[in-house]
Amino acid sequence: MNSKDSMTISEQVIAAIRTVVGSSPAVLHEPTFNGNEWRYVKECLDSTFVSSVGEFVNRFETDLADFTGSTYVIAVVNGTAALHIALMLAGVKSGDEVLIPPLSFVATANAVVYCGANPHFVDCHESTLGIDPVKLRDYLSTQTELRSGYCVNKSTGRIIRAMVPVHTFGHPVDLEGLISIARDYKLVMIEDAAESIGSYYDNQHTGTFSKLGILSFNGNKTVTTGGGGAILTGDVAVAKHARHITTTAKMPHAWEYRHDDIGYNYRLPNLNAALGCAQLEQLPTILAAKRELFRRYEQAFTQVSNIKLISEPEKCHSNYWLQTILMDQDVLGQRNRLLEATNNAGYMTRPAWSMLHESQPFKNCPKMDLSCACSLAARLVNIPSSPSLIPSEL
Ligand SMILES: *Cc1c(COP(=O)(O)O)cnc(C)c1O
Repeated sequence: MNSKDSMTISEQVIAAIRTVVGSSPAVLHEPTFNGNEWRYVKECLDSTFVSSVGEFVNRFETDLADFTGSTYVIAVVNGTAALHIALMLAGVKSGDEVLIPPLSFVATANAVVYCGANPHFVDCHESTLGIDPVKLRDYLSTQTELRSGYCVNKSTGRIIRAMVPVHTFGHPVDLEGLISIARDYKLVMIEDAAESIGSYYDNQHTGTFSKLGILSFNGNKTVTTGGGGAILTGDVAVAKHARHITTTAKMPHAWEYRHDDIGYNYRLPNLNAALGCAQLEQLPTILAAKRELFRRYEQAFTQVSNIKLISEPEKCHSNYWLQTILMDQDVLGQRNRLLEATNNAGYMTRPAWSMLHESQPFKNCPKMDLSCACSLAARLVNIPSSPSLIPSEL
């Protein structure tokens, strides 16, 4: 066998992944259906309540409230819809700006635009991968001023109404720092916890730190409903409003169809919720497997030079949704070779999403210096992260 020194980075990474996941091919993230999934979906079909009314969708909300500690949960068709409604209920209006990280899935930026508002990109911190509160405070102190109680961007004259921190790959952002900025700059915070079910900051579940948070249950997330999402809130009025406008704003009545507002057909179907109920029963097992996978990768990657495996930030408990390696700047030249070699070896790896501020629809949006987010995006690579990579007898 080659000594470590004569192996290329790609060979070392492949060897490390192989030690952990074995020699069979491994995708980035696949769902596992080892519980009551078939049974609940069949029960749902037998009940004929497959659409937006039914027992499973109510139960899914209750189970999610129990798991996250959120007082109210409103289940919707996907995480993007959850973000759209959460931003509306946060008071984001046409012409506003909303602070978001450039290192996120496109849904975060799209939802801002659905409200007629403008994404405003702010930089990330290397230890959390999410918005950097120190850099942000510094930026806001020179870039904005408070006018009649609103935070106004001095360059554009527009109100910065809200911020949407993302718990990237399941790692909680520095919430304490961001909450204090939101307070000082009169910003509503909406937590994009789409990737972070089962992640905690200071022992509290992500998505429950502000008036509004959201989750996603897409097929590639930690648990799935096929497609699905949820709005989390502790505010009864917000919860009622969210439930109302996600169910077409129909007034309750046995046979009349009257609507008192522009509503959205965003309610999660019962059929999807049936799958979700079974998945939530599996969630503790899935989280344990993902944490064990991290532990094994951590051991394997101590052998690899110039590469660091990303671990949960201080004070945080991460769900380890996507395992991530970070390449040192001086070996960056080998990243494409690394991606090619690992994928050729059957191990699916992927760089981060392309940066939102560089993507066509958002390239003219306001932004601060994004050097850390850009550096992270250039250096990070996601590696196989499925819970099924850890045998289920765990
Ligand atoms: C998955 C995801 C969403 C929501 O996506 P849907 O596919 O609409 O459920 C939103 N934000 C982030 C950061 C995500 O990863």
